[in-house]
Amino acid sequence: MDWLGLHFITELPDSGQVILQCTHYPVLVLLAYLVACATSFATQDMAERVSHAERPNRQRLWRWLGAGCLAAGLWSVHFIAILALEVPLNTHYHLPLILISLPIALATAWLVMNALSHEQLSPWRYGGAALSIGLGICGMHYMGIAALRTSAHVFYQPQLIGLSLLLAIGCSLALLLLSRHLREGSGMFHQLRKYTSSLALAGLIMLLHFTEARSISLVLPAGSPPSALVPNSHLQLGLTLSVISLLIIASMISAAVADKKLQQKERDLRRVNALLSQLDQARFSLLQVAHYDALTNLINRRGFNQLFAEKLMEASTFGGMLAVIFLDIDHFKRINDSLGHDAGDELLKAIAGHIKSSTRCHEDVVARLGGDEFCILVNLRQRDEAQQMARRIMQRMKEPIELAGRRMVMTTSIGISIFPDDGETCDELLKNADLALYQSKDAGRNSLHFFSSTLKTRATLELQLEEELRNALRDDQELLLYYQPIYDLRSARVTKLEALIRWQHPQHGLLAPDRFINIAEANGMIAELDNWVLRKACEDLAYLSRQGCGDLKIAVNCSALNLTREDLPGEIESARTRPR
Ligand code: GH3
Ligand code: MG
Repeated sequence: MDWLGLHFITELPDSGQVILQCTHYPVLVLLAYLVACATSFATQDMAERVSHAERPNRQRLWRWLGAGCLAAGLWSVHFIAILALEVPLNTHYHLPLILISLPIALATAWLVMNALSHEQLSPWRYGGAALSIGLGICGMHYMGIAALRTSAHVFYQPQLIGLSLLLAIGCSLALLLLSRHLREGSGMFHQLRKYTSSLALAGLIMLLHFTEARSISLVLPAGSPPSALVPNSHLQLGLTLSVISLLIIASMISAAVADKKLQQKERDLRRVNALLSQLDQARFSLLQVAHYDALTNLINRRGFNQLFAEKLMEASTFGGMLAVIFLDIDHFKRINDSLGHDAGDELLKAIAGHIKSSTRCHEDVVARLGGDEFCILVNLRQRDEAQQMARRIMQRMKEPIELAGRRMVMTTSIGISIFPDDGETCDELLKNADLALYQSKDAGRNSLHFFSSTLKTRATLELQLEEELRNALRDDQELLLYYQPIYDLRSARVTKLEALIRWQHPQHGLLAPDRFINIAEANGMIAELDNWVLRKACEDLAYLSRQGCGDLKIAVNCSALNLTREDLPGEIESARTRPR
């Protein structure tokens, strides 16, 4: 192989040659091992960074940084190891060849980082990558040996070259597999595994070097002047190279650690942001639930109160008019009772749609206050506008709604109060609109009424009368019975008396039943009132019997509401048989 300048040991003649003994300088070997450890550890860190990089340009950056770091490490290890070789001759190195080994180191390192950037690699591709990297490492090393210049000839042992190539491929495969395996994970144990694998990989690299060193023999022609062992003159260069390469590797490791922490912080920040936006969504949903009616999607009472307060504040500040239009669907219970609650719900949704479509989308506030009650807030320029809107709604309600195979037409009663004429506060305006609504209900439903002060006076009076009637029933002081005789024309005698209740009111004088019976009926007192009349009539009848009017009968009026009560027969029986 003269054309390549390579001489194999098999070409050595049997005699006339002196084979020199080469040893290694321990300090430089130790330094080479240290650099190999640091290089292995840094490669695993770089592989971790490449696989965890979230953006492609960041991944590219770490791949190149990793390749640079690994190239510097690998090249330094082999060069320091070659410097550690103690040859009993004066030696120096051919600079151009040394420099050529640098790009080989870089290309090899780039192959490593490229193979580690892939998510998945088939066994074949692992094998291919390990072969290329192994060839690169061997090429780099033998280039370093070829740069060695002495007075001796270099002879190579082909078997050991083959073995070193196999070792280089195995070492590359181990580096790839371990770096790939250890790029995921965290914690003490993971770190410990990385240290251990770095020590093992560095051991393999050193073994590779020794095999490569053993594969060369330095040969002098016989009769050359004997030479003593020349002390290693490359110690300083080796030390400098070790410090520089260790510094480069350490800075790369620090950069990787900093990047890892930064990435962790970025992830934490993203998680916090995601949590914050979830919190925002939850708050929004809560607000939605708190302020909107789930059935009709209209604002509910709470949302209405809030908007009402805002609109009222605006109207009082800028001097506008505001109408509160209160609606209650007529006889809605009948739908629930006949078609069921679900059909009732469907109907409420359709009615809400009718009401909404009769208002101005962005200006008017439409709310469902509960049950079949709706309320609309309208900014007015003239009082008439409220009436027009109410009429529009009543007109729209005339359109039939398809429900359970039927076409239903519902009507609504409406009460309206106006700010500032009918009240200054939300409560007052709402209460007054409600009073006007009851006026509409009393007027036979499907009608609209504006609030007026007489309504309020009447409502106040009724409330007071209700309370006083309760007291009158409890104290049994002010109620009394008048009797209307019923004259029998055939016998020409008074045969019956009709008991008629009166209320001797301390302020209003003697009140006829039409002033208070409906109050008793509306407020659950009618049964008690009827019972009082019955018992009093029975007492009077007993008295009249004792006075000699034994044939006399008394007729008592009973409210229609009371007639359906199951307790009524028992109460009549008890009133009749009560001892007097
Ligand atoms: P009026 O003409 O006096 O208004 O009588 P009404 O039958 O409409 O009865 P009222 O307005 O006093 O009561 C409303 C009824 O609506 C009471 C309840 O049975 C029913 N209701 C309340 N909330 C709901 C609901 O969410 N869904 C359904 N389907 N019915 C409801
Ligand atoms: Mg109703």
